[in-house]
Amino acid sequence: MLQHLARLGIAPADVDYLMFDHLHTQDLRRWIGTTGPQADLGGTVEPVFPNAKVIVQRHELLAMTQLHPLQRPWYQPETYRDVRPDAFLAVDGSLVLGPGVAVVETPGHVYGNQTLVLNTSTGIWASSENAIATECLTPEHSRMPGVARWARTWQQEVVLNANTIETTADQNNSLIIEKTLVDRDQSDPRFLQFFPSSELTASWANPGTTPTFTHKAIRHTA
Ligand SMILES: [Zn+2]
Repeated sequence: MLQHLARLGIAPADVDYLMFDHLHTQDLRRWIGTTGPQADLGGTVEPVFPNAKVIVQRHELLAMTQLHPLQRPWYQPETYRDVRPDAFLAVDGSLVLGPGVAVVETPGHVYGNQTLVLNTSTGIWASSENAIATECLTPEHSRMPGVARWARTWQQEVVLNANTIETTADQNNSLIIEKTLVDRDQSDPRFLQFFPSSELTASWANPGTTPTFTHKAIRHTA
């Protein structure tokens, strides 16, 4: 990320906002600094982004203050217990951050899940972890074994990232909203400009899960 910012000519001190679709497994300490020493990081951590606020849904911040036992393995409290509290910007629901950039509330995977939505030269993109592959939004075009058949058999319009432990039905509705918001891919209109924040990639170690289509990156000219 830091190399990418350097290529764009953006200094870390000029970054105003950081955002994740949710905070499972995110270790924020290096990004926003800590208020006390961290045994595994050799002392109190100075922030990489001293002026940035982490945009997070208030729902998620509240849930993190007293984790449900099933959530503990996903959140790893030791990675955020001592981060600077003033580095969070709690928001309620969807909002426009600036021209062409919005946060859309997409509850389900966690109550405070959110999606980054961008309007670019190629049209509208959305990025979240609600699905692990772009073809999960148009499963009828998937060549991954079982995906199209499963969607057809169960009359499902989308195929979810399935490790949800809160409200799966809400996550389904959220993914339908994302599907509705985004434009089609310009090179292959069977697939949409939904960028999975943990995009499935082919691996010899996982036979049968090679995606039919991947974005690899969001590319645009403005
Ligand atoms: Zn998660």
